Amino acid sequence: MMTKELQTLKTWIGEAKRGVFFGGAGVSTESGIPDFRSDTGIYKKKYPYPAETMLSHSFYVHKTADFYDFYRNVMLYPDAQPNAAHRALAKLEREGKLAAVVTQNIDGLHQKAGSKTVWELHGSVLRNYCTKCGAFYGLDFILQSDGVPKCEKCGSTVKPDVVLYEEGLDSDTISGAVSAIRKADLLIVGGTSLAVYPAAGLIDYYRGSQLVLINLQETPYDSRADLVIHDKLGAVLTAACGEA
Ligand code: ZN
Repeated sequence: MMTKELQTLKTWIGEAKRGVFFGGAGVSTESGIPDFRSDTGIYKKKYPYPAETMLSHSFYVHKTADFYDFYRNVMLYPDAQPNAAHRALAKLEREGKLAAVVTQNIDGLHQKAGSKTVWELHGSVLRNYCTKCGAFYGLDFILQSDGVPKCEKCGSTVKPDVVLYEEGLDSDTISGAVSAIRKADLLIVGGTSLAVYPAAGLIDYYRGSQLVLINLQETPYDSRADLVIHDKLGAVLTAACGEA
């Protein structure tokens, strides 16, 4: 049975021409990638610092080997596959209803599902670059290297194209996300409590009257949304736009 809220979402998606989806960690949990901020159990016993410390720029600089130990064990999920939410969003883009996905995730699953315009606010584990010569390395290189991965061309440290704590976001990525949100006729926010910088600030650029929040739990932004659905993201999007 389709609820009134779901029916409204379906109608809005049907009318959308340049919608934007803004997503967080909750988008990928259905693909088996835990939210490292909430799911602290996986590493708390093994690592002496909070994730925010081990994923900071200064930790990367001063304890690079420890950074990579944590990074490989907690942040990389090479076997993860796109879920129903990723597939539904890729379908909406193909159908000309969705202009862009803006994501806080670094797993590359939107592109794997077929999405083309994806603004990755925090970068991607699929891209890694030599800090000296700029040579590119894929995820496999990081997975297969031991300790600190070193460039095969010049021997310098290879760094993930992931925005660490204390680091600024890429300005082109921010511009792209802001531009898409400004022009959006529908903004769907899912799988994020909007607590992580710069999520809340970006949402403020939306000028339309169809702000949709889909989240299992309540968020501080529920009262600002035009439509709130507390349910599983993949199921909601699939029901609202049809199976991909
Ligand atoms: Zn190099």
